[in-house]
Amino acid sequence: MTRRFFSRKNPPCIYTKRSLSWLCLALCFIMNTGFQNHIDASKPNIIVILIDDAGYADFGFMGSKDLQTPNLDQLAARSVRFMDAHVTASVCSPSRAGLLTGKYQQRFGYECNEGEGYTGMDIRQNMIPVYLKDHGYATAAFGKWHLGFAHDQHPLQKGFQYFYGFLSGARSYFYQPAKDDHAGAKTALLENKQPVKFEGYLTDALGDKAVDFIQQHTRQPFFMYWAPNAVHTPMEAEDSDLKKFANHPRQKLAAMTFALDRAIGKIMNELKRQGILDNTLVFFLSDNGGANNNQSSNFPLKGFKGNKYEAGHRVPFLMSWPKQMKGGSSFRGITSSLDIAPTILEAAGIRKINSVQKLDGVSLLPFVKGIKKGNPHEQLVWRKDAAAAIRFQQYKLIQVRELGDRLYDLEKDPGEMNDLQKKLPRIYTMLKQKLRSWEMDKMKPLWTEGAVWDTITLMIHDDLMHNRKVRVQNPSELEQFRTKRK
Ligand code: CA
Repeated sequence: MTRRFFSRKNPPCIYTKRSLSWLCLALCFIMNTGFQNHIDASKPNIIVILIDDAGYADFGFMGSKDLQTPNLDQLAARSVRFMDAHVTASVCSPSRAGLLTGKYQQRFGYECNEGEGYTGMDIRQNMIPVYLKDHGYATAAFGKWHLGFAHDQHPLQKGFQYFYGFLSGARSYFYQPAKDDHAGAKTALLENKQPVKFEGYLTDALGDKAVDFIQQHTRQPFFMYWAPNAVHTPMEAEDSDLKKFANHPRQKLAAMTFALDRAIGKIMNELKRQGILDNTLVFFLSDNGGANNNQSSNFPLKGFKGNKYEAGHRVPFLMSWPKQMKGGSSFRGITSSLDIAPTILEAAGIRKINSVQKLDGVSLLPFVKGIKKGNPHEQLVWRKDAAAAIRFQQYKLIQVRELGDRLYDLEKDPGEMNDLQKKLPRIYTMLKQKLRSWEMDKMKPLWTEGAVWDTITLMIHDDLMHNRKVRVQNPSELEQFRTKRK
C-alpha cells in the first residue's frame, strides 16, 4: 500500500493541484513574513544625534545670537522641542551608558566618568541596536564611544553592525599619527576594528561617512547613532571656519559649532534627497551641559558640565518624525534621555522589551501626538559618587556628602539660588525619602574618578551651593590653589 502510494502511477498527495496551491500559499506566507522581519520599508529609520559638551544656549533654536546653526534650526522647526529634558549624568560616559541601555546606569554600577579602576560597560547590558538588529534594522555607530575598551565592549559586540569612530572620550579633530592615530591607541579612528586614516576635519568625516551609510541603506530601515565629539575639547577647527568667525569672541567654539551644524545639514539633506526624511525619526541632544573649558554658554541655567545644577544635565532636546508627528512646537513636561529607548522601540513596532528588560524611560510618542498630557516623569534622579540630586515635580533636592543639602523650587527659582529646606520641611523630607527609595535597587559605583577630580567636583559643588564664584575648575587650578594656601 505504502509502495503504491509513492509509485509513479500514484504520486504522493502533495503533488496534487489542490495541495500544490496550498503549498504555494504557505510558502508565500512564510517568505513574506520572513522577508518583512528582515526588511520592512514601512518601519522608520532612526537617527540619534548625540553631541558632546554643548552649551544649553549655544544654538539658534535655543536663542543664541552669536553662534550659527542654520541646519539645526531647520531641524528644530520640524521637531518637538523638549523644554525640561535631561540626560542621566552631567558627564560624558555614564550619560551615554544610560541613553543606549535605556536604564539608569547606576543599575549596573556605571556611575562615574572614566577614572580610577575603570572597567567600562557591563557586557550583560543590552543596548538599543540589539533589539533593532533582531527586527530587520541595519545598525551603525559613528563618532565617540566612551563605553569601554575591551573586545566585548566594542560597538560591534553591542549590537552595531558598523562602526566608524573612536573608543576613547576625546581626541584631535585632525588625523594625528604621532598622537592619536598610532597602532593600539584608544583614541585612534577606527572603521569597525581597523585603524583608518581620514582627510580634513573629523566632524566633516563623520558626516560624510553617515551620508555613505544612508546611501547604502535606502531600502532597509536603519538605526544610526551619530555621536560626534564636537564640541568637546580640544578646541580645534578648520582654518576656513576660523576665518569665517575671525573677530568672534568665542571664535573656536563658533567655528566648531558651525562645522557640526554643516555635518548635520549634510545628513538631513541626504535623507531628503533619498526621499526618506519623512519616515525618519530623529533625536537631537547633548550628552551633558556645556563644559567650563570649551567657551560654551549655559545661560540662563546655573552650573556646568560635571555638577548637579541644571546646566550639568538639562540639555537641548529635539524629536522629529514628519510622517507621524507635527513639529514646530514645545513640550514642557519632564523628559529624560532614558525615554529615547522606549520611544524607538514603539516607533519600530517592537513590543515587550520594556517590561522584560525593565527600562526606566517611557515612550514619548503618546506625548508628542497629544494622546497623553503632563509629565512623562514625575521624578528624575542623578547620582555620581558623592553628589546626588532628585527632581520631583517642580522641586529639586541636591545632596552632597560632606557638604549637606539644598532644596530649590525650579518653577519660582529656575536659577537655583534660594534654598528652601527650612521653608518647606515636608517637601524636603519627602524628597530625601524618595531619593533613598530610588537608591534601594541601585548599585554602588564600580569605579571613581580619582582623588583629584573628586576634590575638584566637591569644591565646585561647595561654591555653587553657596552661590559663590567657582574657585577651581581643573587639576592645574587645584594645584595653584593648594600652592597659594601653603
Ligand atoms: Ca560630554
